[in-house]
Amino acid sequence: MSELPYSYEAPVSQALFDRAAAVTPGGVNSPVRAFRAVGGTPRFMVSGSGPYLKDADGREYVDLVCSWGPMILGHAHPEVIAAVQEAVVHGTSFGTPGEGEVALAEEMVDRVGPLERVRLVSSGTEATMSAIRLARGFTRRSKVIKFAGCYHGHVDSLLAAAGSGVATFALPDTPGVTGAQAGDTIVLPYNDLDAVRAAFAAHPGEIACVITEASPGNMGVVPPLPGFNQGLKDLCAAGGALYISDEVMTGFRTSRAGWYGVDGVEPDLMTFGKVMGGGFPAAAFGGRADVMAHLAPAGPVYQAGTLSGNPVATAAGLAQLRLLDDVAYTTVDSVSRQVQALVSEALTKEGVAHTLQNASNMFSVFFTDRPVRDYEDAKAQESFRFTAFFHAMLENGVYLPPSSFESWFVSTAHDERALERIADALPAAARAAAEATA
Ligand code: PLP
Repeated sequence: MSELPYSYEAPVSQALFDRAAAVTPGGVNSPVRAFRAVGGTPRFMVSGSGPYLKDADGREYVDLVCSWGPMILGHAHPEVIAAVQEAVVHGTSFGTPGEGEVALAEEMVDRVGPLERVRLVSSGTEATMSAIRLARGFTRRSKVIKFAGCYHGHVDSLLAAAGSGVATFALPDTPGVTGAQAGDTIVLPYNDLDAVRAAFAAHPGEIACVITEASPGNMGVVPPLPGFNQGLKDLCAAGGALYISDEVMTGFRTSRAGWYGVDGVEPDLMTFGKVMGGGFPAAAFGGRADVMAHLAPAGPVYQAGTLSGNPVATAAGLAQLRLLDDVAYTTVDSVSRQVQALVSEALTKEGVAHTLQNASNMFSVFFTDRPVRDYEDAKAQESFRFTAFFHAMLENGVYLPPSSFESWFVSTAHDERALERIADALPAAARAAAEATA
C-alpha cells in the first residue's frame, strides 16, 4: 500500500498502480492522474455511466472531473455510444478523407462565427502547436506572448515558465526544452493589458501572436476581466500579430459557441479539443480563411496527422455536438450553479475562507477570501485545505480534480440523486478543510 498519508482502502487500484509503475513512468500516462498534488492512491476507473464513475475496487463516485471536460453529456451517453458503434463496424481508420470529418467541421463552423476554416488533429497540444506554427509562418515573425498560469498542452515553446515583470524572456520550465525554444516565448501576468502593451512596444515587428486561454481553467477558473480579451485582440491588430484564442477547454462547453459565444471577441485563430471529440482523441484549430490558406497543401506551412479526422472519433464528436442544444447548456449551467451553491454553503458553515469563480458552467473553489485574477493570486490560496477537502470528498464518493489549480466539470447527466450525494459528502469535507493545517 502507499506510504503517503492518504492510503485508505483502494487495494485493487493500488495493485494496478504498482503494476503500472513497473512499465510506465510514475505509473500514469498524464502526470496529474498520479495524485501527486494531493497524495494517496490514484483510483483506476473501470466504467462510467451518466454522472458516475466506478473504480477497480467496486466503489462508485459522482464524477466532477468529466474526463477534464469532454464528458459534458455524462459517461456512456446512449446516442454517442450508438454513433460510435455505427461507425466502428465500417472500419476504424482509412488514411483518406471521409464524410464524417467534413460533417464535424461543418458543425463547428456553423456554431462559431470566426471559424471560417478548420483543420482536425488528435489532441489539444497538436492544435496549439500547429496554430503557433501557422501564426509564425503567416506573419514571418518568431515571438509568442503567453500568460502565466495558462496551459496550452505540452508544446515545447509554451511550457516556458512565468518570468516576473514585463516582457521577461522565459527560461525553460522543464528539462528537454531548450533555451532557443523557450527564448521566443514572452510570459506575462494574466489580466494585465499594460504588460502586453509594454511587450509590443519592446518588440516592434517581432511578435507573431498572443495565445491565451479563452477563459482560463488551468490555474483554477480565472475569467478574463471585462475588456481583457478585446484589449488583446486590439493590441494584436495594432501590432500586426495574430490573436489566438485557446478554446480547448471552453470550446462547446461554456456555450454553444464556446467562450466566443460568451464574449463575442473575434480571434484570428482558435484551438479546440475535449468536448468536440465526444471522449475520443479529436481536436482542431481554425479561424480566418486567409490565414488558414497558408496551411499545406493549400499553402507552405506544413501540418499533418495519420489519425487526423479519424472516422470513429469524428462520429462521436458529431453525435455529442448535435445533442448540445440550448436546453443542454441551460441544464449544465444550472447543475453547475447548484453544485457551487452547495460547496459554498458547506464551507461557509465551517468558517472556511473561500472564493468560488466560474466561467459559465466551469468553476473552481479557491481556498482564499480574495478574488483570483492571475496565477500569483491562485498560488496564494491555502492549498493544504483543498488536499483535506479532496480526500474527504473522495472517501464519501465524490471524485474531484486532484489539484487545487483545476476547473471542476459537470454534465447534463448530474441529476437530483447525484446532487444529493454531493450534498451528503460536503459537510465532512468542509470540516476537514477547516481543521487542516499547513
Ligand atoms: N489547451 C488547453 C486550454 C487545455 O486545457 C489543454 C488540456 O487540458 C490543452 C490545450 C492540451 O490538450 P490535450 O491534453 O488534448 O493535448
